[in-house]
Amino acid sequence: MTTRSIAILGSTGSIGTNSLRVIDALGDGYKVRALSANSSVELLAEQTKKYRPDVVAITNADKAEEFRSLATGFTGTLLTGPESLVEIAKLECVDTIITAIVGAAGLPAVLEAAREGKTLAIANKEPLVIAGQLLMETARKNNATILPVDSEHSAIFQSLQAGRNDEVNKLILTASGGPFRNATAEQIQNASLEEALAHPTWSMGPKITVDSATMMNKALEVIEAAWLFDVPVDKIEVVIHPESIVHSLVEFIDGSVIAQLGTPDMCMPIQYALTFPRRVKGIASHLKLDELGKLTFEKPDMDVFQALKLGYKVAKLGGSAPVVFNAANEAAVEEFLKGSIKFARIVELIAYCVDTHTVNPCHSLDELLQADAWARETVNKRIAE
Ligand code: NAD
Ligand code: MG
Repeated sequence: MTTRSIAILGSTGSIGTNSLRVIDALGDGYKVRALSANSSVELLAEQTKKYRPDVVAITNADKAEEFRSLATGFTGTLLTGPESLVEIAKLECVDTIITAIVGAAGLPAVLEAAREGKTLAIANKEPLVIAGQLLMETARKNNATILPVDSEHSAIFQSLQAGRNDEVNKLILTASGGPFRNATAEQIQNASLEEALAHPTWSMGPKITVDSATMMNKALEVIEAAWLFDVPVDKIEVVIHPESIVHSLVEFIDGSVIAQLGTPDMCMPIQYALTFPRRVKGIASHLKLDELGKLTFEKPDMDVFQALKLGYKVAKLGGSAPVVFNAANEAAVEEFLKGSIKFARIVELIAYCVDTHTVNPCHSLDELLQADAWARETVNKRIAE
């Protein structure tokens, strides 16, 4: 059996730590060669002692010394600074990269991994939202394989195997509806950080948990699906499914709908991305449909969840519009997590940026990054007003 040589970008986060649990369970045949974290050096040092990677990257260079003192016995290469992620993407000793960084910060490394023709198990959805065309073209040109880790996209990827691409009628993404599914506009207006972080079904990092509460996460996922599966957004539907058991569905032209179901546990899609096209016994618990009793579905209220409506709008506008949409969200969520703005302000700020931005077709990475910077600056200026 050939050994898969793996790098995990963002190994200390929710996806990163679950990926290591999956790799532990897969056992022989999977070797961790590189790990990265931004600043959680204690956990990174523990992981380094356990997995003995050849390379470790710390993007926040100020934390490097602390890591050195904690990771006693580490004899591999320590890289620091944001560029270190790109260096990992280039490593010859790595064939598979799990991209588990949060936000647009992962873009340069994800692009480099595609340029290097690696296999990407992609959880980091923001690069697909902001540079989907460039990323997919780069992957195609360099024979890189992109395998989705996001649970909905893994479900669609699995369901698509039941037919040909030209037989697809539409993709149906499920959404839990988050903690505010049944909330009134007033409750949402005054939601606390604690309430926004109390996701009913999934346990995830703070940014994506807030994105689930605004339903920004689903908006990003519609755009992610459009690029991953080459389907226009008009053919991507969102349905609320509070139980988070049906992870997404594909409707084919004959009316057949194929879905993937499972417990809400990210280990399942992570494992599938690592074992594809095979399946092996995993660590996620199995479904007991009779205990669940029923599965429910409802239409999302686009007037309550404005982020979802905006997501369709920016996807159709294209160019710099999704970049601004994503960056404004990242900046606003950061402020919300610090306690400096109210929950409802997040979507207001995103809408303000989208409405005041002049869309640019964005032919280069530089133009994408300029639009990203403009949105972050605009959010911060608006908050300071
Ligand atoms: P997290 O916050 O738990 O972890 C983020 C990881 O990225 C950490 O290892 C952190 O050190 C690193 N990181 C953070 N900022 C960084 C920066 N500026 N530069 C370099 N590294 C940085 O996040 P998460 O919940 O694991 O999510 C990771 C990605 O996966 C996101 O794009 C998210 O949308 C996507 N995703 C997550 C889940 C989930 O269940 N958590 C599900 C689907 C998709
Ligand atoms: Mg998802």
